[in-house]
Amino acid sequence: MHELGVVFHVIKKVEEVAKENELTEIKSVTLEVGEVSTVIEDYLRKCWKWSIEKKSELLKETELIVEKIPAITYCEECKQTYSTVEYGKICPHCKSAETYLIQGNEFSIKEIEAR
Ligand SMILES: [Zn+2]
Repeated sequence: MHELGVVFHVIKKVEEVAKENELTEIKSVTLEVGEVSTVIEDYLRKCWKWSIEKKSELLKETELIVEKIPAITYCEECKQTYSTVEYGKICPHCKSAETYLIQGNEFSIKEIEAR
């Protein structure tokens, strides 16, 4: 479980942004999490809750918003794309295994909203 590390990283980033912009309270933080990224949303939320309780006024009331990015795989053989979660590594169009993930593995901070 590396979600705690991820949360610490996010909090550090948010604190930096708050400092730069002289924000005293953060209303919400929006994260983009790919469908097949290794970050598990439930753990992420638990870690977030646990972490912000120990933090300053800045993050005490901050809401965590998680936006899922669907996982899509591209097939080299037939040049088509398909849902990774549904079909895995084998292309449903031509049964080729010459495929690679084009999105769905990301994890990033999309938005930080001040109160
Ligand atoms: Zn194919």
